[in-house]
Formats: sequence, structure tokens, C-alpha cells
Amino acid sequence: MVKIMLDPGHDINTPGKRAPDGSVREFEFNKATAIHTANLLAQYNGVEVYFSHDLNDAIDTSLNARADLANRLQVNCLVSIHANAGPTSARGIETFIYLNTPTSTDNLARMIHDHVINITGMTNRGVKRADFAILRQTNMDALLIECGFMTNNEDLALLKSDEYRRKCAQGIVNGLVQFYGLTRKAAPAPAPARPPAPSIVYEAHIEHIGWQGPRRNGETAGTTGQSLRLEALTVRLENTNAKLEMEGHVENKGWTTVRTNGEVFGTVGEGLRLEAIKIKSDQHTVLYRVHVQNIGWTDWKKNGEVAGTTGQALRIEAVEIKLA
Ligand SMILES: [Zn+2]
Repeated sequence: MVKIMLDPGHDINTPGKRAPDGSVREFEFNKATAIHTANLLAQYNGVEVYFSHDLNDAIDTSLNARADLANRLQVNCLVSIHANAGPTSARGIETFIYLNTPTSTDNLARMIHDHVINITGMTNRGVKRADFAILRQTNMDALLIECGFMTNNEDLALLKSDEYRRKCAQGIVNGLVQFYGLTRKAAPAPAPARPPAPSIVYEAHIEHIGWQGPRRNGETAGTTGQSLRLEALTVRLENTNAKLEMEGHVENKGWTTVRTNGEVFGTVGEGLRLEAIKIKSDQHTVLYRVHVQNIGWTDWKKNGEVAGTTGQALRIEAVEIKLA
């Protein structure tokens, strides 16, 4: 397990640490870049990421407290993320390590620095040595990277962009991956494509209205309370290769022949009411009920049972059909 501490420099209210025009505080860059870095590191095996302080702190967390936390957690490395200030002409990225450090620190710093330079294309100000407290007081490989100058207009525009922050984070991660030989977590196996659920679609032809538009999976087709006869019906199955068989009992005519998936049963333009229906499928249990004149909704019927009436001169006004 590699323990990595990310140290976004300063806090949101640290005095002075902001662009000369006040348009961004240094911590905003440091924090966003640290979070991007942590998110990227989460894609690798065997990594634990820590922040050096609460990123929502209103007050400055001292350098002592940050260094103490890193030492106490015995992290393998600390990466302190900053944005620079200097003469307005100064540009680019520089990385700092302590005055005397083990070779490992030097190697880690150079790998991170080179990757960040490579991915950002920024001016390379090199890896330098400095007596910074966060470097001096920490026991592990520690480095501080200054990712650009808030005091330079071109650098500042980059520091304010999320794209640039992501590039810096990616460069830092690339360096850590190289140094520690981190391996990516296996991509989660793609979820097996679930076929869409079978559904049943039907459309009713209603007196004075005509074809009403498709209804599906238990929705009401037809009308209730308007004394309008349902004259014809078409029913089909979707997302299944099952067969569907329907028959309708038509005023003056009796039972129709068997109709299949999507065929119309009943009559159109003859002024005849549908009085009863039967529906079945070879693979699915089809449930259906009809709203009959003077009676209302029947019970749910299934598997070819008759829904509605025959010989009573009562019209079907509405139907509901669904799969069990
Ligand atoms: Zn700083």
C-alpha cells in the first residue's frame, strides 16, 4: 500500500495568497488540483490518498500541523501543490525539495516535475532545493510544486482554468505512477446488456374518435363515461418473439377469426360495437379487462378467457391489457 499525502498549500482565507487582480485565490487552484489528483489516483491499485488538512477550513492550517499529520500517518510521500508569485514576467513551473534529501526524493520530484512540464508544455524552471518548512519538517519523500505564476497574465489565465488544473493533476499522477509502479484497477466488467422487457401495445378505434393512438402495459384504451362504443382493436407484443392471438365478438357478426400480432379485429366504418374479446400468447400470460356499457370494468381475464358479453347487446367502451 502506497500512502500519498496531497497538501494543497494555504487555505481559502490565507492573507495575500491571491492573484494581484483578486480574481482567484491561490488555494482555489491548489485545492481543485489536489482533488483532481486524488480522483485520478483512485483509479490505481494499492493507493491511499490523504489530504494534509480539511479542504473546507476557514482558518489556516499551520505548516507544523500538516507536517505532523504526514509524519504521524507515515505516508510514503507528500506532494505540496502551489501557485507562484514573482515579477510579472516570470512564468513556468518549478519544483522544490529539501536541501539534502535521499535520492528517492530527488527521483520522485524529477518524475513528477517532468510529467507536469510534459503534459502542460509550460516553461521548465527546474527542480530546486529550498529550506521550506513543509519539506524540512516531514520525514518522507516530500516535494512542493509551483504550477505557474499568479503574477503573470498568461500563467494566471491557465491557473484559473479547470483544464489546466486537470493537466497538472494528471502530470502529478503520472509521476507517482512511474515512481511507485502503480497499476490501474481493472475496468469494471460492462454490465450485461439487459434486453428491454417485453411489453404489450394496443390501440382502440372509438366511435366518433377513430384510432386513438397506442396505449401500453395496462393503460386505458377507449373511453369511459362517454357512452362511446369501441369498434376495433389492434394488439401487438414488443421486445419478444412470442405469438399473440386475438378474437373479437362483433355486434351482428359474432366472433371474428383469429388475428395475430398487430392485426385489427372488429370493424371500422360500419358502426358496429365490439362486445367481447379473447387474447392469448404462446409465451406470456396476457391479462385483460374491458369496460362494458351498464356494467363497468370486468375482472381481469387471461389466456383466451372471454372478457365482455355476448348476446346482451352491450358495447365495450374501453380495454386495459398487460403482461403478467
Ligand atoms: Zn503557495
